[in-house]
Amino acid sequence: MFTFASVNQEECIACGACNSAAPDIFDLDDSGIASVIFAGDNNRGVTAIAEELQEELQDAIDSCPTQCIQLSDAPFA
Ligand code: SF4
Repeated sequence: MFTFASVNQEECIACGACNSAAPDIFDLDDSGIASVIFAGDNNRGVTAIAEELQEELQDAIDSCPTQCIQLSDAPFA
């Protein structure tokens, strides 16, 4: 199964928890708002997250206080 991820940036409060938990998947912009950066995804949610990063991804989701990391088993766009 593939997992695609995208941050709902309207709900992101720039806490940085996802970047701490999964720095290979999430990065923060100058304002601290998170994006999915894995393999150049640019928060589009169209790049399947690598199998070996699934645990990190789950940790990030669990650590997000606003639950704004969206997941899908199909590309978002
Ligand atoms: S953990 Fe959630 S609220 Fe915090 S920076 Fe990441 S996406 Fe934004």
